[in-house]
Amino acid sequence: MKQMAHIRFLFAAVFALLLVGASAHAALPLPVPVSPPAFEIDGRTVRGDVVAWEASGGPVERADGVVERTQSGVLRDFPSARLTLRTRQRRGSPVVRFRYELEATAPEGFALTKSSGRDNLVYASVPLAKGARATEVRLSEYDPLCHCHRLVETPVADSYFSEDLAFVGPIVVIEAEGRASLLAYEHGSQSTDRFIEFSCTQDRRLELRAVKGNYWRGRRIVPGHPFETIWLQTAEVQGGIDAMAAAYRAFQIKGATDNPASRAPWIFYNTWASQERDFFWGGSRKYLNLMNEARILADVDRAAEMGIDVFVVDTGWFEKSGDWRVSRERFPNGLEPVVARLREKGMKLGLWFSPTEAAESSEIHARHPEAVMSWHGVAAAPHSVWETEQSRFHCLVSAYWQSVADELIRCYRDWGVTYFKWDAINQYGCDSPDHFHGDASVPADERADCYAFEQVRYMARIVDRLCAACPDAIVDFDVTEGNRCVGLAFLASGKYFAVNNGPYFPDLDHPYDWTASKYWSNVFVYPGPARARVARTTLDFDRWIPSVLYLTHYLPDAPRTSQKINLASLVLGQNGIWGDLSALSPKDRAWFGEALAAYKRVRDAVTSAPPVRTGVRGGSPEIHEKISAEGAGALAVFAAGGVHDYVTAHRAGRVIWKTDNVSVVPTADGRARITCRFNGADAALVFFAPEEPSLR
Ligand SMILES: [Zn+2]
Repeated sequence: MKQMAHIRFLFAAVFALLLVGASAHAALPLPVPVSPPAFEIDGRTVRGDVVAWEASGGPVERADGVVERTQSGVLRDFPSARLTLRTRQRRGSPVVRFRYELEATAPEGFALTKSSGRDNLVYASVPLAKGARATEVRLSEYDPLCHCHRLVETPVADSYFSEDLAFVGPIVVIEAEGRASLLAYEHGSQSTDRFIEFSCTQDRRLELRAVKGNYWRGRRIVPGHPFETIWLQTAEVQGGIDAMAAAYRAFQIKGATDNPASRAPWIFYNTWASQERDFFWGGSRKYLNLMNEARILADVDRAAEMGIDVFVVDTGWFEKSGDWRVSRERFPNGLEPVVARLREKGMKLGLWFSPTEAAESSEIHARHPEAVMSWHGVAAAPHSVWETEQSRFHCLVSAYWQSVADELIRCYRDWGVTYFKWDAINQYGCDSPDHFHGDASVPADERADCYAFEQVRYMARIVDRLCAACPDAIVDFDVTEGNRCVGLAFLASGKYFAVNNGPYFPDLDHPYDWTASKYWSNVFVYPGPARARVARTTLDFDRWIPSVLYLTHYLPDAPRTSQKINLASLVLGQNGIWGDLSALSPKDRAWFGEALAAYKRVRDAVTSAPPVRTGVRGGSPEIHEKISAEGAGALAVFAAGGVHDYVTAHRAGRVIWKTDNVSVVPTADGRARITCRFNGADAALVFFAPEEPSLR
């Protein structure tokens, strides 16, 4: 099927070349009939029809078998502008990434304008044939009940077209005549705050339009400095939306990014929950009480016993934000003893960063004083960053971005840190005229929108610069809270750090006194089935976006039933553990060590296998099958009690590890029949190796 799509792409390209030869005005060399973009130039709407497409670069080989091609041509209706179409496609994948670059050819250039006062830019448009069905796949709907983003699929009804409705996406799938096509955009519009939308027109077209902030009014385009659009995506496969979801999911693992290290299914431990426990339960009322060499070294040893790959030291390891040097007060010997211990154990180092915050006395602030965010003319006020020095928010959409990237590269070179956890990047906050998101001639509210729009593109620049210097680096963007840029843009460079402790009490309309903080502000902080139920919400994304791209942490605390529930949840791909490792007995740590050793034998299969789900989250039973075509993977069953039978949808290989409450019998056709027995809330977990089915 994928091969077929690839062949169709070649046909489309050849067809386009034939059109060029005939000097007809050229169809876009894309596998799906996407109409060209339209811009507003010098006060009039100009369609992106080119006189003739000519190959202008490539093909260029990129990471993971991705090939880049560029074609360009002069605009028929505005000959002093040249449009470039840049495509990237992995061999064998039906998904094509593409973007436009609009360049001035005359020295005087031109301006992108907004006659109506709002963005006038159509990125793409696709027709909906009679009888075709469209579905919106939304990635950025924030649900306070579970305090995380949700995946929502919504049919695009006929009334959307008759009533001119719009939706945020960022993915739309059109099914017609046994085929499914996709159009998507790489940005991070929240469902409550659109920067880009799919607009439904009365002649049954879906137009992908800019809403706000995509450019500022009067933006000059001069030779050598093209206007680069966001990346878009398109694809066509045989079958319906399920086939498209599977193909798209595979693309997100290989083909969507130049930074393939971000897709590796490492097992992460993060110190934050132990710091928070110490604050609320330990009586210290300090988040950095445990942040010292002795405690971190002891936890590294415990994490190694459990089979953790990446040890992440959360906030407090640094002296001050911005410069990101180690705190000599908390680590008098520097980070070197921790680095040495991790190397000895074969583990990797991860560190917490807040890329928008820089201390008042930091060198990076001294180099970029103009980068301090401002709002309505008032510079961001100093605030303490987790019990460290007073800092201010700095704007990433300014020259500051490059210094941030270089500081992270230094951390990689000094300590070998390969995992960078990014926190506290809210989508709004700067309307300064002194940065790269509009000058004083642009109204302040438009500069604020342009900052919010451009932010994720500058975040991606930082990640891409870091990963070019350090190919094994992974950057995780914490999107636990709302009002952050969640969509497809950041996934082209890094990945997400998702729900941590579920809702805060105020999310549930439960009064909470933030100033007194007598008890923990989150509801789900105890071991047991409830917290894991909430954290598994994010697994809904796994149908489209692999769960390795939504790191979520689970608690390893006793009793064993809670450990089984948390283990069976995390191996479905979210792969995070946190909490107080010192509270675990050596026996408990050994149990995790044995289970995770078995998981490591099949985790690549779990990562690549599309999910098969039965039952609702929190229901009895709730079943997750993640078994590859080769019969390798995992099966997890959750329930509040009772006996539950299940037959795997896929052929299953040999059992290499299982919990003690499940029996597995092969069926005549090579699948596995599972029977689980639960006394109360529990989980069963089975790992299958890819050998012939000779079940023990
Ligand atoms: Zn700014």
